[in-house]
Amino acid sequence: MSELMTIHGSCHCGDIVFEAQADPDRSVICHCTDCQIMSGGPYRSIVQVKEATFNLLQGEPKPYFKVGDSGNRRELCFCANCGSHIYATSVVEDVPLGQRMLGIRTGLLQEVAQLTPQVQVWCQSKVPWAQNIASLPEIQGQS
Ligand SMILES: [Zn+2]
Ligand SMILES: [Zn+2]
Repeated sequence: MSELMTIHGSCHCGDIVFEAQADPDRSVICHCTDCQIMSGGPYRSIVQVKEATFNLLQGEPKPYFKVGDSGNRRELCFCANCGSHIYATSVVEDVPLGQRMLGIRTGLLQEVAQLTPQVQVWCQSKVPWAQNIASLPEIQGQS
């Protein structure tokens, strides 16, 4: 485990603001179909944090419950105003409140550039072209 770093996040509209302590080694990319649908992109990047370190400074994330590709029930929390995804976690029936791991969506974080993913999971549903974007022409703003 690496040294913990403080991460600072907020949703797009600013209703939800939080801080947490993250282990940068627990940064992952998830290629599961639920992440594709719910993020609207080919994959999602996540950092796992202990719920006890998650400090909600403002707002109240709205939960949505699903059964994951793993077969486990999952609680996904998002901003009810702007729709930004905040985190996914276990349901309290499986892991007691306060002891869960939260998979924070790294796009919300000021520290996103420092959270280099260490592994990619659910590669069976990976979108092939999403692995090879480095060779695409780069434009600094909109084309
Ligand atoms: Zn919002
Ligand atoms: Zn996923």
